[in-house]
Amino acid sequence: MEKTDQKAFRTFLLELRRRLAANVSHMQQEAMDGGNAAGRGELSDISLEHLADRGSDTFTKDLMLGMIEDNEAEIIDIDRALEKIGDGTYGICESCRDNISMARIKAIPFARLCIKCKQDQEKQAPA
Ligand SMILES: [Zn+2]
Repeated sequence: MEKTDQKAFRTFLLELRRRLAANVSHMQQEAMDGGNAAGRGELSDISLEHLADRGSDTFTKDLMLGMIEDNEAEIIDIDRALEKIGDGTYGICESCRDNISMARIKAIPFARLCIKCKQDQEKQAPA
């Protein structure tokens, strides 16, 4: 991958990471407060207030904890991708060492496997 492309992805990943980390800390706060965010005037990208209006507190809390986990998993993948940009292995499949297609990188900038290995992995270990 071109150095200029790597720089662009690095900027994008850092921004994505910042937003995810902000979401996580916001959601952790909400989960601790029992999902009652009314009147605090602090909004994340995801409207938790809207979600809180629709379900029970338990449901909202479970949903938020699930989202926190998803976001944290993504942050770990982003950190890994940033490391790979640092050591020059970004855009290379971790399994077959082939280049990951640009279309896939654009869709998932923190992808660790090429589409073929990803599909193989999903076949072997269904979720
Ligand atoms: Zn591969």
